[in-house]
Amino acid sequence: MERTRTKISPAARGKAHVKVNADVVAVPFHQADLGEEEAEAAADVVRTGWLTMGPRTVEFEQRFAAFVGARHAVAVSSCTAALHLALEAIGIKAGDEVLVPTNTFTATAEVVTYLGARPVLVDIDRQTLSINPADAARRITPRTKAILPVHFAGQACNMDEIHSLAAGHDIRVIEDAAHALPAAYRGRPVGALSETTCFSFYATKTLTTGEGGMLTTDSDEIAGRARIMRLHGIGRDAWKRYAAEGSWYYQVWAPGFKYNMTDIQAAIGLVQLAKCTDMRSRRAAIVARYDAGFARIPTLEIPVQRADRESAHHLYVLRLECGQLTIGRDQFITALKQREISASVHFIPLHLHPYYRDVCGFKSCDYPVATGEFERYLSLPLFSGMTEGQIEHVIASVSEIATDHQR
Ligand SMILES: *Cc1c(COP(=O)(O)O)cnc(C)c1O
Repeated sequence: MERTRTKISPAARGKAHVKVNADVVAVPFHQADLGEEEAEAAADVVRTGWLTMGPRTVEFEQRFAAFVGARHAVAVSSCTAALHLALEAIGIKAGDEVLVPTNTFTATAEVVTYLGARPVLVDIDRQTLSINPADAARRITPRTKAILPVHFAGQACNMDEIHSLAAGHDIRVIEDAAHALPAAYRGRPVGALSETTCFSFYATKTLTTGEGGMLTTDSDEIAGRARIMRLHGIGRDAWKRYAAEGSWYYQVWAPGFKYNMTDIQAAIGLVQLAKCTDMRSRRAAIVARYDAGFARIPTLEIPVQRADRESAHHLYVLRLECGQLTIGRDQFITALKQREISASVHFIPLHLHPYYRDVCGFKSCDYPVATGEFERYLSLPLFSGMTEGQIEHVIASVSEIATDHQR
């Protein structure tokens, strides 16, 4: 067993009530799977002297589009930028409404406000914690123009139901796939299911370029508009104007944004893309270990996996049967921290944040499922580089805390 010896911080040593020994295995919440290959790829770009968007970005877009089976992939600076460009490209404007699940990161909803439109929060499905299409249907008005399903934790939403709802009410679908690379729904990869899909390459995501994102679409119009708007509204291939084969001449077609990717990021992304499927397999194996370890503990509820979907396994969201435990979720996380395990919570539902609650007026009683589930879920460490010792330490600690505090 490859136990990694970790230094105990003075702070941890001071906690006399905690069982900390020299063999304790520290488990961060996340650790990016980066190696010499990524470092070399980035260094190679530096050596060429062309740092910003250029040939590596074009190659990354082509490889990414092929990987998810989309006609176009547009590389950008973040998933937030991709979502903003997607909404802009379909003409979302002031007065429009866009359906967004309440259990997401604020980026999914904030981009709607960038265009003067209103995010309309939707409750979630109790089992999968993803947007509930039936609840979304109840919140449709004549002003509803789009829906932004989030593939929570890496498992695709019920896309057939979302597509039929969208078709029935003439609303557009933009997927927030920040968690869902690589993932599939009924045999088809996420990235080629809806009109537009947005991915994140943020430091903690399943493919990282530090910061970065990608918009995929089969629509020539959406891709064309996004390409222009990601670089100041300047015409196609504007990045080439400083290249040897480029020209100084350019035209501005719209007041655009500064959302382009850099070649340093793209070079790292190309290496990550090549290992993406392998990294997913390693996370899937950890998920299987967690499931097996927790399934028979009555105070714990393991994540629901739908048979018709292949999750990217970005997050492992465990739920507590709080009625059967003497401690709540927050204390559970503290108990893990005392064993040097970092857990997190995905997400604090948007309707509980001051902005969405006080300024937008969303009320907890309108989101009973998200409000209730929030009290009892936590996300355990899950990353491809986890050691055998780390996996075992998480399983043993979670099991011990759950059993020690059973009513
Ligand atoms: C991380 C995340 C985003 C934002 O991604 P960035 O690349 O940081 O902009 C959007 N939506 C969800 C669900 C996320 O988890």
